[in-house]
Amino acid sequence: TKELVRVEGLKKHFKLSGGGLRKEPEQVVKAVDDLNFSVYEGETLGIVGESGCGKSTMGRLLLRLLEPTEGNIYFENRDITTFSKQELREKRREFQMIFQDPYASLNPRMTVKEIIEEPLRTYKEKQAERSKRVQTLLDAVGIPESYKNRYPHEFSGGQRQRIGIARSLALNPKFIVADEPVAALDVSIQAQVLNLMKDLQDEFGFTYLFIAHDLSVVNYISDRIGVMYLGKMVELADSDKLYNNPVHPYTQALLSAIPVPDPTRKKERVMLTGELPSPVNPPSGCRFHTRCPLAQDICKQVEPEWIEVEENHFAACHVVKERLS
Ligand code: SF4
Ligand code: MG
Repeated sequence: TKELVRVEGLKKHFKLSGGGLRKEPEQVVKAVDDLNFSVYEGETLGIVGESGCGKSTMGRLLLRLLEPTEGNIYFENRDITTFSKQELREKRREFQMIFQDPYASLNPRMTVKEIIEEPLRTYKEKQAERSKRVQTLLDAVGIPESYKNRYPHEFSGGQRQRIGIARSLALNPKFIVADEPVAALDVSIQAQVLNLMKDLQDEFGFTYLFIAHDLSVVNYISDRIGVMYLGKMVELADSDKLYNNPVHPYTQALLSAIPVPDPTRKKERVMLTGELPSPVNPPSGCRFHTRCPLAQDICKQVEPEWIEVEENHFAACHVVKERLS
């Protein structure tokens, strides 16, 4: 498997100016804090975590829609954090984003055809090519071609998301960051859109980074899953491994929250206690220590290392590391 994207030491810190007359100490939001992982060609890497864990920020950083505070992002072994505007513009053809809200992300004054065509115009594709591409894409996402002169408000939420997906595929990208693409949709049509996204990947061969807060959604579509907590990645493994044999207490807690369909199947329950802390000046040591049922003294002081627990299965936890030795 070939590596498409590699992330090294990626950080995004925002300063909240205390300022004012009271000279409060400066506060830093560590939205994304030292991420290291790769995305392989043709796979779907799912990223899961509670809201505020930094997963959307991370998705935007990967496409350089946001500038990182520190770290490197390699796309096909070239560090895009060093790219000039012009280089980035050219590269942008190859990476796209699918947004959560199919209502807000489509221009209400443009027809479906214009919406899908717009990226092609930006890159000066010829008229004939554009029309052909629109036809191919509408067909691929299951919207009748005869609807191409309609406006977004004439479609249902699920159809709008299909149109958004068609637009993101216009330039034939290699890498797509999908940020909670089904979260705004009725549960009854979420599976349809997920299946469509899978089919399109088979047809066009691109790679997904798929962000969601719902572990069952992520598990359904992903080959591998990364779990984030307060700006950190805490565990990363093949979906099956992560789902059936999670090692990090936070992943175990997330999984415990999913109802088990078979009540005779005993599942150890790890309950989350306490509130999700603020990413402003997050807890010292392991950020999860304020809620972790296994927390030890060391957890409050020392940040756990990111270690390979078994082949291609990574986690950051003192207790997990101790068990290995
Ligand atoms: Fe819990 Fe400590 Fe592991 Fe963090 S490092 S998850 S606090 S046991
Ligand atoms: Mg988000």
